[in-house]
Order: sequence, then C-alpha cells, then structure tokens
Amino acid sequence: MTVSIATLGFPRIGPRRELKTALENFWSGKTGESDLLESASGLRTAAWARQRALGADWLPSGDFSLYDHVLDTSVMLGAIPERYRTGDGEADLSTYFAMARGTAGAASGGCGHDHGAGAGEASLTACEMTKWFDTNYHYMVPELVPGQKLALNRLKVLDDYREARAQGFETRPVLLGPVTWLSLAKGRGVDPFEFLDEVVSLYGVILGHLGQAGAEWVQIDEPILVTDLSDIQRRALTRAYARLARPGVKLMLTTYFGGLEDNLGFAAALPVAGLHVDLVRAPGQIDALLKVAPKDLLLSLGVIDGRNIWRTDLDALLARIEPIAAIRDLVLAPSCSLLHVPVDLALERRLDPELTQWLAFAVQKVEELAILKRALNEGREHVAEALADSRRAAIARRTSPLIHDATVAGRVSGITPALFEREGDVATRAAAQAVVLDLPDFPTTTIGSFPQTEAVRGARARFNRGELDAAGYDAFLRDETARAIRWQEEVGLDMLVHGEFERNDMVQYFGERLSGFAFTVSGWVQSYGSRCVRPPILYGDVSRPSAMTVEWWRYAQSLTERPVKGMLTGPVTILNWSFVRDDQPREASCRQIALAIRDEVLDLEAAGARAIQVDEAALREGLPLRHREWQHYLDWAVECFRISAAGVGDATQIHTHMCYSEFNDILPSIGAMDADVISIETARSQMELLEGFARYRYPAAIGPGVYDIHAPRVPGQDEMVALMRLAQQHLDRSQLWVNPDCGLKTRKWPEVRSAIEAMVAAARTLRGEA
Ligand code: GLN
Ligand code: ZN
Repeated sequence: MTVSIATLGFPRIGPRRELKTALENFWSGKTGESDLLESASGLRTAAWARQRALGADWLPSGDFSLYDHVLDTSVMLGAIPERYRTGDGEADLSTYFAMARGTAGAASGGCGHDHGAGAGEASLTACEMTKWFDTNYHYMVPELVPGQKLALNRLKVLDDYREARAQGFETRPVLLGPVTWLSLAKGRGVDPFEFLDEVVSLYGVILGHLGQAGAEWVQIDEPILVTDLSDIQRRALTRAYARLARPGVKLMLTTYFGGLEDNLGFAAALPVAGLHVDLVRAPGQIDALLKVAPKDLLLSLGVIDGRNIWRTDLDALLARIEPIAAIRDLVLAPSCSLLHVPVDLALERRLDPELTQWLAFAVQKVEELAILKRALNEGREHVAEALADSRRAAIARRTSPLIHDATVAGRVSGITPALFEREGDVATRAAAQAVVLDLPDFPTTTIGSFPQTEAVRGARARFNRGELDAAGYDAFLRDETARAIRWQEEVGLDMLVHGEFERNDMVQYFGERLSGFAFTVSGWVQSYGSRCVRPPILYGDVSRPSAMTVEWWRYAQSLTERPVKGMLTGPVTILNWSFVRDDQPREASCRQIALAIRDEVLDLEAAGARAIQVDEAALREGLPLRHREWQHYLDWAVECFRISAAGVGDATQIHTHMCYSEFNDILPSIGAMDADVISIETARSQMELLEGFARYRYPAAIGPGVYDIHAPRVPGQDEMVALMRLAQQHLDRSQLWVNPDCGLKTRKWPEVRSAIEAMVAAARTLRGEA
C-alpha cells in the first residue's frame, strides 16, 4: 500500500512576516493594490515551492488569505453586511478590509486585540472578531440577517488554484466547510441554519468550477465535527454532504483540534472520498475509525502536531503507523493547518542548541512527514540516520537537566489543599482589609497599564538594540512611573498602579524572568490579520530565580501614601498564551507556574504591598472544545490561581482581572477563585452580566468596567454614574469598585486623562447618593 503526504495549510505570513509588511504598507498608502497583490502572489508561490521541495505530495491552495480565511469564505458567499456594501458590483478589496478593520476613524483597541484602521472621523467598525476554536488565532465572525442575499463573489479559491496550476503546482484547494461556517456565524434575528440550502448550493457551484478547472480533490474543513454537535448541525452535515459529494470532485473531509468521539461513526459514513482525523490530540480514535471506515475511504492521518512546536519521535510513531499502512493506502499530514506554528526553525540562531534539537516549526514538520513516507514506502533502512537522530532527540528530552528540576518536582508533589486556602472567609478578610486600606465607598482604581506611548516603545527598542544602556533605560522607566503615580494622586484615584511601563507584554515579561521558558527571534504566529505574536516556549520545569516585580512596586509605593497594587499575570494566562510542554499534562505545567507566581505574591506582601492583582485574562480561553471536559479544566485552573494567590494574610487584598463578559456558564468557578476584588468588562453590555453574579450571590467585591477602553471614545461622568446605578440594581453598593474595562496600554494619554477624571468624578457623585 502506498503512503503520500499532505499539508492542510501553510503559514501565510511568510518567513519574515512579509505579509505584515505588505499589508501595512498598503494600509498606510505607501503602496497600491497591485503591489499588495503582487506580494501576496509571491508569498503563495514561495509557499508552494517550499512545500514541494520538502516533499509534500498534496499541496494546499486557497489556504492563503490577505486577512482571514473565515472572512474570505463570508465574502466568497456574499455574506457581506449591508453597511459595508459599496455599489452593487462584486466586493472589492476596500469592502474586504472595511469588514476586517473598520473604516477610518473607527479605531478599536485594548486587550492586545486592537485592529482599527486609524484616526479620523469615525465611520464603520469592523466585524466582530473572536478566537478560532481553542487556538490563539482570531477570525472575523460571519454575520447573517433575515432576508440576507447570498451570491457568489469572486472565487478566490478558484483563482488561487489556477494560479498554482499555471506555475506547475497541482494543488488540492481548501474550503472552509459550509456547516462549520454556519456554526460560527452570528444570526441577527435569524438562525444561520435557515441559510443551509442556499449556502450548500453555492458550495456546489464552487466545487463544479474547481472540478472544471482540473481539481481532482478538494479539502473541505469541518473542524466543527470535533465539538458537541446539536441535532441541527448533524442534520445539516448529512444534508450538505449528500449534495456536495458528487462524482466530479473528491472531497477530503478534514477534522482537527480533537477527536471525533461520538461523531466518529457519523463522519465516517458521510458520502465523501476521504477523511482527515487528528491523531495528535486524539491518538486513540484510530482504532475505532479503522473498524468503521469503508474500504474505499481514503484516510488522512494527522500525526504531526500542527498546534505545537515539538519535534516528533518518528521511531515511536512509525511503530503505530506501519500496521495501518500495511492494509490501506494512507495520507500522512500535520494534525491541522500549520498556520498555528512559526515558519522555519532554521531562522532561530539564538536559541540554546540543546533546546533547538527538540523543536520543529512548519518547515521541519513537513520534513518529518517526508521521512515517515520514505520509511513506510521504501523501508526504515533508507532513513535510518534520520530516525536515529529523531530518537536521540526524544531520549535527550526525556532526561535533560535543562528540563527536569528535582526541586520543582518536589514542590509540586508537596502541594496540599492548605496551599490554596486563604486563612479567613471573604467577610473576615474584607473587615481586615478595610482597616489597612481605609478606602471610601466606590473605591476607584485602574487595571494596571498606562499608555505604552511612542516614547515608551522607542526607549525599549533602543535598549534592546543596545543604543540605550541599562541605567539609562531604568532611569527612563522610573521617570514614567513617577509621573504616573503623581498624576494618579492628582486626579484622585484611590488605589494606584505603577503603570507597567517596563513590560513588553503581560506574559513575555514574566516568561523572561522565569526559568523553563525560552523566546524566539522569528517564531512569529499569526494572531489575526497582520498581527503576529511570538508565544513563549515553555520547555522545562518552572521556577523563579529571583523577584520579578518587587522593585518596581517598591519604587512606586515609595512615592505615595496611597496603596499601590502589586501587578502580576496569573498562571493560567501565562500557560494559555505559550507553547507548552507535551511531555506532561497542561495542568502539571500550570501548577509549576502557580508556585512561581505564589513566590512573587508573597515577596510583594513581605515588601509591604496591601493589595496584589493577579490577572487571569485568558482563563476562559483555555476552555476545552468539549463541554464534558470543562469542569476538569476549570477545577485545575481555579486551583492554580488559588495556589498563586492564597498564601497572603487576611489583610492583604487579592484582586483579579478578566477582560471578557461571558461569565454565566463559569460563575461557580469565578466564585471559587476566592479573590477579594474582581474587575471585569461590562461597559458595552449595560451591566447585564452582573445579574448572574447577583443570582449566584457572589460574596466578594466587583469592579464592573465603566469605561470601554476598546474605543477612543471618552465617556462622560453621567454615563458612568448611570452604569454604576444599574450595577446597584444587582449588587450591594459596598461590593462595588469603579474602574475601566481593561488596561490602558493601547490608549492615548489625553483620552485616559479625561476618562479617568470623569470616572473619579462619577465615584464622588455616587458616594453622595447614599
Ligand atoms: N494588568 C494588565 C494591563 O492592565 C491586564 C491586561 C489584560 O487583561 N489584557 O494591561
Ligand atoms: Zn483585560
């Protein structure tokens, strides 16, 4: 039987973030549309050539996107909200980018997810953006309204297929499947599935075009199949694939990000020619699949991790695949698109060589597939050296002192429930804290960061380039901090922050100060559009060699009598925004981080901090795709937060911050975190979510954000007073704090000044309303 290898999608940004440069030049007007399209075409060609040179038999086309593949699909189907339409011709690039980024003036920002188009007169905001399944990639949410007219636009996937073909690359076009697209869509006043038949017939037309153009196979992605499906979704899948599986084009139904589980029999029985399954997240599903898969169903096995950066132990993997390859033709592939990993490890020259030999980025992952293919088709002896190499790396990783630290292991095994219990209950603690802090009703505070201005980023860049020495950089940061403290006193805030000027990023800053983390120079991964991130690599046991934030806190506190909050990123957030170890469960890594943060919390307390904030911005993001796994995740996530925070005495106030508004389904866990004060996002939802907190009788204090920091708009005092009056319909006034939605790092100082002044005035008004 023969084995071939496929990629399901390749990073679009280019090895040196060429796409980012091309997009930003185009958006700023430096270049024109044809320059942008030319760069994009160059990137596609380079990706095809690269993948072919590496030995891929099945190359994807249509996986490239100028911004987002979900947006591409929406535009292709004509699901363009009325407000973005210009004329009645086909949607052009300006419509596309208007949906992606809004139009001039409608800038948004905050939470690291600012994707606005710039300053000026506000006109159109972008479509809503949210996380793609459980990844850190963000897609533009499709929008459907009653009576929405759908019609095919320019078929990008067809153009890309033809473009590849003209260059001598035979490719397998990639489409986002209709049922996943509908499942991700937001219906405004209509159930998206009402559009099923219309959408499916458009897909039929697209497949027809692709077939006519010469495509033999089409990859159709339905990652929704690894989630809990409703009857509506199942029926939709049956109906859709009964119509789409036609003789002309063979469909490779592609699933990823988990196991098919209860959907396995169902998926294997759909009338498609091939099925791709994720054997990295769900290795066990292969046995069940082999039992039910019809003989003529071409199986594509996702055996190389598309979500993480570790090299595979090819020897061990071969032992699992050989018996299957003996009885069926197989395609081997990464578990999912390589969109989620950096492009090429060869560009990393500063990583520890020992660590480097354990890693594989997109390019190296295709190389691994090529080795597997040869071993299976020609015999292991033909790639003996490569296999030995991979084995050696795997063994080294299992035993390396770089990774394994007996002290950390000892501490983790010594964790007892006592470690995550505060001494007193919420009420006892509140009384003790009231004495120490002596705060007014409706105390005011901010979430931590102040504007990361050009000056701040410039100084950091100069310091990183070696143009500014450590003393100079430090003096600069102290100056910024001192000014922020002075201003906070002047404006009349009750609990101050140091401003986080020294932090490049809320996770990276801590990763750089903990052992067990490494940082790349070119390990960029697309977050959305032109925005790329370089996630830290958590490779080894985590410990904290020395205090990370205490000096900044001490300095800030030395400048004022008012309490300054210690400011830390929580263990769950650090974990969820990093590439993490695959040699132990995520929760084990998280406990190690939790212990390190606990050390910092206790040092801050010992230095005199009366309040310490442990941010868990990404706690919700870590929720598993399957509902039944939620509780287990929430349990260990909450436990880790508590390990980090619960060591302090009753009089020390623990704050936490979460920048989202969907809480209702996880409220018991939020309560179980047992923080003294939680600040959350609510400004955009009219305090509605406080209803849930009230119903649950949330006992501690809450700071519902009254200033939406995601937009440049400065709210007035009256508006904030009104919001806080609404808040009092749900919660007791003694529970309420007054603060913005999130950190202020993406805003400008003039906006921040006016907004916080108004906020302090609002709190004073509220105090007079007893
Ligand atoms: N303390 C952080 C800040 O203010 C929190 C950021 C966040 O929640 N995303 O920037
Ligand atoms: Zn936030």
